[in-house]
Amino acid sequence: MQIKNSAVSMIIQATSQKELEDVKLAFLGRTGRLSLAMKEIAKLPMEKRPAVGRLANEVKKTIEETIKNHSSGISTQEVRIKKEKIDVTNPGVMPDIGHLHPMTNVLYEVVDVFKTLGFQPADGPEIETDYYNFEALNIPKDHPARDTQQTLYLDTRNSKVNPGEIILRTQTSAMQGRVMEKAKPPVRVIVPGKNFRYEQVDASHGFEFWQVEGFMVDTNTRLTDLFGTIDYVLRKLMGEGIKLKFATTNFPFVEPGVDTYISCTVCGGRGCSFCKMSGWSEIMPAGMIHPNVLKAVGYDSQKVNGFAFAIGLSRLVTLRYQMDDLRLLTNPDMRILNQF
Ligand SMILES: [Zn+2]
Repeated sequence: MQIKNSAVSMIIQATSQKELEDVKLAFLGRTGRLSLAMKEIAKLPMEKRPAVGRLANEVKKTIEETIKNHSSGISTQEVRIKKEKIDVTNPGVMPDIGHLHPMTNVLYEVVDVFKTLGFQPADGPEIETDYYNFEALNIPKDHPARDTQQTLYLDTRNSKVNPGEIILRTQTSAMQGRVMEKAKPPVRVIVPGKNFRYEQVDASHGFEFWQVEGFMVDTNTRLTDLFGTIDYVLRKLMGEGIKLKFATTNFPFVEPGVDTYISCTVCGGRGCSFCKMSGWSEIMPAGMIHPNVLKAVGYDSQKVNGFAFAIGLSRLVTLRYQMDDLRLLTNPDMRILNQF
């Protein structure tokens, strides 16, 4: 019994097949403890031999079975350990760290391109006064151009401000007055920012959209300087191969007004819902700053003049990535964002 107990306890403590094999030899091997004990049986008196012999066989059987059971246990454990072994040379799992939104990426590029031309970025309020958004830009209260900019007014009933005086800016041009009031010519400034209009949302229009406003005032600024600037900037941003088209237009704060169209990258100029089947997309309205705008900020419009423009940034991004719907830019679906 003593042999059985110590054998079983040693078998259970064995943690590998090698250790188990050693235990087996120590008890059941030719010179093992049980084998030697069994040889002793022959020396016992005849009448005791059968009982002791049976007992010895039972012990042998128990030891063998215990070894067998424990052996399979060790095997599965060893396989598991082998599987779980950490290989420190394996490449790790990269954490998901995210990236900049395509709008932000393109915005940074736009700012960089304008910096090379000497334009400094400026930031302005999204909640703006009627004065800077309209009046300082030669759009008085009764001007029909106000109808084209569906304006969102803030509720001023509980304040001293007159109704209709505080709005969500409809154009980043609102910053022209604010900047020029404080700076003397020459000025070269760009104003990236969000604008808001109460508009019907479709593939190429949003109620909230990004613009990069820009303006320059100096002596002897010419319309050709404006054309050259637009041409340089858009080719830098959209590639040398793009086609540009200028058309005359009318905005109260410029004279003459220029509309810039870029060949639609979504359809390659064949016509699609994004370009309203025209093959062209309006990208950068511009013009020579109206003398009334310069006068409103105290500039001498006889001595200085300048040009202004606004890049439709949201539209620029969709054209850059050939997205056929502006609304994808504000969609938080990771399947869209992961493509950039
Ligand atoms: Zn198109």
